Order: sequence, then C-alpha cells, then structure tokens
Amino acid sequence: MKQKHVYSFGAGKAEGRGGQKALLGGKGAGLAEMTGIGLPVPAGFTITVDACAHFHAHGQQWPAGLEQEIRKHVKQLERTCRKRLGDAKDPLLVSVRSGAARSMPGMMETILNLGLSDASVEGLARVTDNPRFAWDSYRRFLQMYSTVVVGLNKEVLEGKLHALKQRLGAKLDVEIPADALRELCADFKSFFQQQAGGPFPQDPWEQLVGAINAVFNSWNAEKAATYRRVEKIADLSGTAVNVQQMVFGNTGDDSGTGVCFTRDPSVGTNEFYGELLINAQGEDVVAGIRTPLHLAELQSKMPQVYEQLEAVRAMLEIHYGDMQDLEFTVERGKLYMLQCRSGKRTPAAAFRIAVEQATQPLMGKAEAKARVKKGFLPKKYLEAASKPVISKDQAIARIAGEDIERLFSPVISARVSRDELTGRRLATGINAVPGAACGKVVFSAREAEELAADGVDVILVRKETSPEDVGGMQAAKGILTQTGGKTSHAAVVARGWGKCCIVGCQALDINFDSRQFSVNGAVVRAGDSVTLDGSTGEVYQGVLDLDRPEPPSEYFTLMKWADERRTLKVRANADTPDDARKALEMGAEGIGLCRTEHMFFATAERRLAMQEMIVADTQEARIRALDKLLPYQREDFIGLFEAMDGRPVTIRLLDPPLHEFLPKTRAQAQELSDATGVAVEDIERRAEQLHEANPMLGHRGCRLCITYPEILDTQARAIIEAACAVRQRGGAVTPEIMIPLTIDAKELRILADRTRQVAERVIAETGAKLKYLVGTMIETPRAALTAGDIALESEFFSFGTNDLTQMTMGLSRDDAGRFLPEYCDTARGGIFKADPFQTLDQDGVGRLVTQAITAGRRASPKLKIGICGEHGGDPASVKFCHAAGMDYVSCSPYRVPVARLAAAQAVIEADRRRAGTARAGSRAPGAGARKSRGADANSARRAKARTTPRRAVRTRAAKSAPGKKTKRRR
Ligand code: PEP
Ligand code: MG
Repeated sequence: MKQKHVYSFGAGKAEGRGGQKALLGGKGAGLAEMTGIGLPVPAGFTITVDACAHFHAHGQQWPAGLEQEIRKHVKQLERTCRKRLGDAKDPLLVSVRSGAARSMPGMMETILNLGLSDASVEGLARVTDNPRFAWDSYRRFLQMYSTVVVGLNKEVLEGKLHALKQRLGAKLDVEIPADALRELCADFKSFFQQQAGGPFPQDPWEQLVGAINAVFNSWNAEKAATYRRVEKIADLSGTAVNVQQMVFGNTGDDSGTGVCFTRDPSVGTNEFYGELLINAQGEDVVAGIRTPLHLAELQSKMPQVYEQLEAVRAMLEIHYGDMQDLEFTVERGKLYMLQCRSGKRTPAAAFRIAVEQATQPLMGKAEAKARVKKGFLPKKYLEAASKPVISKDQAIARIAGEDIERLFSPVISARVSRDELTGRRLATGINAVPGAACGKVVFSAREAEELAADGVDVILVRKETSPEDVGGMQAAKGILTQTGGKTSHAAVVARGWGKCCIVGCQALDINFDSRQFSVNGAVVRAGDSVTLDGSTGEVYQGVLDLDRPEPPSEYFTLMKWADERRTLKVRANADTPDDARKALEMGAEGIGLCRTEHMFFATAERRLAMQEMIVADTQEARIRALDKLLPYQREDFIGLFEAMDGRPVTIRLLDPPLHEFLPKTRAQAQELSDATGVAVEDIERRAEQLHEANPMLGHRGCRLCITYPEILDTQARAIIEAACAVRQRGGAVTPEIMIPLTIDAKELRILADRTRQVAERVIAETGAKLKYLVGTMIETPRAALTAGDIALESEFFSFGTNDLTQMTMGLSRDDAGRFLPEYCDTARGGIFKADPFQTLDQDGVGRLVTQAITAGRRASPKLKIGICGEHGGDPASVKFCHAAGMDYVSCSPYRVPVARLAAAQAVIEADRRRAGTARAGSRAPGAGARKSRGADANSARRAKARTTPRRAVRTRAAKSAPGKKTKRRR
C-alpha cells in the first residue's frame, strides 16, 4: 500500500489522532485531536515526520507521491475554507509551522501569511476593509520568507523596519500607517531581488514548496541540533509540517492572541492561567515588545470568548486527563484553538495537579450546569466536569522520578536571566547530582573543611575524589571533578547526601600547585566564587541567586498512595546516624548498605588508626591497630541501630583495596610516622607493596578478610557488640552482616562461618538475645553464575550492580564516562539504550541477576534478596527489580522517594498489562484467545503469589524440587 504522508483536519473531522505524535508531531497530533472533539480549530493538514526523515535521507528529495498528496490537500483546504490560495479577490492565507514529537520551543521555523502576493494583498485589503492590516501581513510574510526560506540577513530587514518607525516617530508597529507599510513592502522586495537574484515569488505553490522545505531543513539547523543534544532527544528522526488556514489576532480590538495553561504551571492551583495581547499576532507575544494582559481581563473585554475558552479548558482537561498548555487566537470575536499539549510544570505543581485532579472536580456541579445551559460546554461533558478527571493510579503514574529529585534540590532562581546565564557559563560536565550550589573554590578537602568551619560556603574542585576527601566533600556546598562518571566516588557519595555534584568536567585544566583552574579561556583561582547547576552539569562564574523549594503537602499525599500500592520494600544506603535519620525522613524501611570504610575518615584519629592497621608488618601490630578502631565502629553502629529502631540494617565488611587508605604525600607519610613510630621509608615501602595495577580487580572485598581475618573479627565483633548493647537497653535491632565481592561458595563459607563464630561468642559474652543474618553481595559474574551454591552459605543476597555492571561489561565505572555518551547517543549509533551504570542493562547484567535469583531461591527458598548498587534508585531499574522478584531495593536517601514511586508504578503497570491482556483475550478468538489463556494463567499465578506469604510459596517451591540441594544450615 502507498504510504500516506499527509493528514487533514478541519470542519470537525481529522484523519489523524492525538496518539500519533511520532508520526504527526506534537502539534499535528494536538490539532487532529482538538478537531476530533469538536473544538474550533482552523482547517489544515499535517505532513508527516516520515516525509521529513525521507527528505533528509534522500538528498532533500520529497518521497514519491508527496507532491500530489499536498496538492490534493491544498484543494480540499480551499474547499473547506471557501477561499483560494493567491486569489486576487479574497485570498486564503496559511501558516507553515514545524512540530516534532517532542516540544523544541523556538528551535525550528515558522512562516505566517503565506499566499500573499502583490495581487492578493490588494484583495485582502478590500475584503477586510483594512489596508493597514493587509500590508502589515504582507510585510511580515516578506520578512519571514526572505530570512527563513531564502536565508537573507534578518538584521537588515529589521533595520529597515526600525528606520521607518524612527522616521515616523512611531513607537509600536501598530502605529505605522498602511501607506508606509506598502512602501516598506516595496523596499523589502527590491532588497530580495538584489540579494536573491530574482523577484519575490508570487506563485503560492512556489511559496508553499519553499516554506515546507525550509521547515524540513530547520530540523538540522545548528540551534535545533544543539537543543536535541542538550535535552538528550536522540530518538526522533525529523519534524512534521503543519499547513493551516491563517486566522488573525491583529484585525482590531475585537481580536487578539494568547497562551494559557489549564492550571497554574508554577504552583499547580486549579486556576485558568494565561496571557494575551489584543490586536496582535503570535509573534508579538513571543517578541515581548508589549506587556500582555492577564487572561482574567479577557472576561471583561470579550466575555463570550472567555466563556468559550473556559469550556475548552474543561473539555481538554477531561479529554487528556492532564493539565494542558494552549495557544489561541481571537479573530473578530471568534475563538480559534491553535495548539494544545501537555503543559510543562514545576515539580511542586506536578504533585499538586496530580493530587487535585485525582481528588477534586474541575468545577462544581452548579458551575458545570450553568456552562452547559449557556451553550458553551457540550452536555456530554457535564458529568465528567464535576468529577475528578483521573484515578489515584493515574496520578502516581504521572509523576516522574526527576520531579521528586528536583523537588528537594535548590535551583538557580528563575530571576536569573538567560543572558546572564549565557554570559557566566564556564563549562559543562556530567550532571551527577541535581540541585544548585554556589561558593568559593577550594582545591583540597582539608581547606574545604577549614573554610566551612568558619562559615564559608565552598565548592570543592578535585581531579577526582577518594575516601579521604569525604570530610571535605561533606563540608562543601557542591563538588566539581574533572574526571569520573555518574557512579564515580564523587557522584555516589554526593548523591548519598543529595549534594550538588558535577563530575567529568573535562574542560577544566586544574593546577593544584598554583591553586587555580583554567577553562575555556577563563582562569578561576582558589577563593573565586562559582555556581554549579547539578541538574544540567553547568558551571557558572560568580554567585547566582538560588531558591530552595519546600515540598508541598500534595507530595506527602501522593507518596502515601504510592506506598499503599507497592510491594517492593525500599531501603537506603546510609553510613552514619545522620544519613539514617535523613533516610527515614525520606521513607526508607531499613538500611540496605552501610559502607563501613566511610567511617574511617570521620576524624584524624580514625584515619591514623586505619593507616596504622594497614602499614602493620605483623598480625599482632595489626590487631593492636584494629583494637583502636573497634570502639569507634561500635559507637557508629549503635547510632545506626538506634536511628533505625529495629528496622533491618545491612552492614558491609571492608571493601576497597587497602592502598586507597594510605598516605599520598610525604607530609602525610610523616604525620603517620609521627603517630605510629613506623619509619617513613617503611610506610613508603608498604605502600609500594600494596600497589596494584588493577586495584578494582585486586586485593579487595572479602579477599581482604581471607588474608587478614582479624579485620573480619574486629568488624563482626563491633557490629554484634553494638547490636547487643542496643538490645540490652531495651531497643530493637535487626543486624545483617554483608560480605562483599564474593566469587566462590567455599570462600564465602569460610568467612560466614567465622562471622557467625565471632557473633555467637559476643552474644554468649553479653547474654543478649539477638537474631542476625549473614549474607553476601552478588557483584561478580561468577557469584551470579554460581548463585545456587552461594545461596547455601548466605541468608541474603544483595546485588552490587555497580561492580556487577563493571565486571560483566568489562567497563570501568570510574572511566567509562569518557566514551559512554557516544555509546548512548542514537545519532551516533546508539549502541546502548542508556548508561548501564545508571539504568541496569537488562539484556546482559539483568539476565545474570534473574538467573541468580532463580538459582538462589531454588537452593534456599527463604533467601532474602535486594539490590544496593546505584540502580536501586533508578526508576526503570526499580521496575526491573520488582518484576525479577526482589524483596527490596536500596539507594541513597534522597532517591528513596524516587524508588518508592517507581515501585508503585511497577505494580500499576503490571496491573494495566494484565488488564490489557485480559481485554484482548475476551475480544479475539483464535490466536488471541490462546495468548490470553497463557497470560491469564500467569496473572493468576502472580495474583496468588501476592496474596500468599512468600515463605509459604518458597516452601512449596522447595518441596516441588526434589533432589535439589537444600540449605547447608541456618
Ligand atoms: C556495588 O558494587 O554495586 C556496590 C554497592 O558497592 P560499591 O559501590 O561500594 O562498590
Ligand atoms: Mg561494589
């Protein structure tokens, strides 16, 4: 069948539908939908995105048949409008506008008033009895066509208009009389003749072809391509073109044009919100030369139009079930709708709108009745207008994880102008943690701590960060690194605190000796101020105004609904009692990962004791140093247990390679020597011994405890002593000791046995009653592949998907940021759908995860399973974890609400899929019915699993797997 490239709309009928954004673009789909529901939309047609994609793929040639289709639709449009393009008596004029599937405001081209010529302008003047309007329209068309289609200099034409105004002493365009506009048109045309080497085209078909090609070409204009890159729009292939009958807001004081939102987009109140200009065209609103009126003023100036617009508002909210952003024009007292799309809103408004749409009607019954009675609102909308327009599930599904993250982070104030931002921009890095921060630049963690202690706001600038920078990172308002990706140390740690962080800002050339960095020609010295926008990755010179939003009450309402819907538990990755309290505030139900190594840098004493342990030559010396660390750890764990008040707390034994803790400079080695009595040379020799070519694959994780079991002894003792102490004070505790980086069941058995021995000894010593679990992280491919054996030694699995991704893909989590953007850019091949360190790679790593869950549960049905890699806070990955049957996800405290929401959305989406499959099954016999029987069986199984306690399900599973290994012991 021949491909259709053009879709008409008008006179109450539309060939397209609102759901066809990918084909018709957002604007085209909106026009089709509005026409279909009976709103007053000027007639026209949409040329598809596919036609544009063909144009670019075939040396700017139209696809076969497009010309005939357009000619046919022009004829149809002329019939609908009862006017002809180029008619010398009463011409049809059209607009030619771009419209991609995703909004790209102002990035592509528009041509208005097409169809005017030397002959038709006279006809327009006569038929409207308004020569000024006709010549002004021609002037605008000449100007747009010359610059947009032919590429003539914009400034020269603007200059001519400006000079004319000066000559006439006119401030505004509307003050220029018709004769002067006629002269200006002649001037524009001779400029065109001179520059383009031919007369201005008078044939409307030639004009139309030129305009359509110009809109197609504007898809690849530099500003549009840059916008797509910045906004990460990589999945679109072109723009649609909308050709539509012109309606005029500039024909007098009974005309106008405006934009409005069906609710207030900045705070979300149920108020019709918008602005308009009387006697103006759309471009005047955009140009900002006149101050627009508030929409409410339309009520007194044109009450009928306002009533009609209110009815449109109600119809569109009911129809789309969401807040809409509308464009309209009033021509001689008649309302026309030119655009509708889902409106952009602040995160606070997103929550308020979702909750109010799910709980409150758009208007009272009496008001709805009155509107119907007056004939503005069609009767069929009466019922819906006085009811909530969406369900609670729809409200939950509507909110994006980003809305939550943005809700809590300070932002650069909207008062800061675009020009100021452009003028101050220094560089762009990777937007690791959203929010904005400003402060004085420092280049070392120590300096950050010192200045912060004096109340100075600082931004810590490092090449990359390491555990010893943690104090300075904590003290800083924001963190900027030259290298690293979104799971680098800086990003992970900063995310845990919700602290603004930009990583991988490669344009920085840092000179630590002279304490300055240069970037794109500017030099920033220690003490100079910068502002970071962690949401965009942009670095600005100086201090910019920031705003800190308060979460609205609707946030708490919606999160309560989400908690009622989800089945997956959500824990937090937290290392300190403060983190734990923050996590609870954000709704965490436990701690899924406490990285104990972070505790060793809280004070100089701890750091020195840790370093003393590492440089120790003998086991006795090591134990002596560990004994110094034990009380610190015990106190930290008591704080964590108390803060979590009986909720599960997973504490991981030491994980990073030891050399990460060693002194880096001679001065630091000297400090350690003074504290321990070990000679500087011996410290340096030990550092050399510990050096590894590939430390992430080296002597780390549980391998450390195989070689130095006394580390395990100390940490296990500290954890269990802390737990017993809390128990003895009457508190509740649920400790879970986690062994990192396991690769083998026997390796784990040795360590788990030793952990349990220490634990039992402490419990016997203290006489406390205590239950605890010993489990492992699954973060190596071998552990995932041998999960069945490993499960026999472990009471829980926690997937460490940062390392698991790194090792499965063979990509360094710290360095891959250099080339991953290219891998994720569809324009450049799109090898990966998303950065695998942010969104779990379901095809590869995900397969290992599901296999490991199946094997683990088969061997040990009671196995508790969670995830604690960064993916635990990524919405798509959380949904995967739900589907894979995990018990919980764990993520940084600030991402806990994001995970709670995604877990609820996972349930809603699964329910919708089931309902969809069931509906398909009841509709179609044959193949459809076969498919639905399978799906029904599946959904019944899932429904049963939901209502049956997991323990019972697992026991049955164990029974039904005779001959399978059972758990070694508990
Ligand atoms: C992981 O590897 O996913 C993990 C949580 O451990 P870390 O990030 O500390 O290596
Ligand atoms: Mg790890």
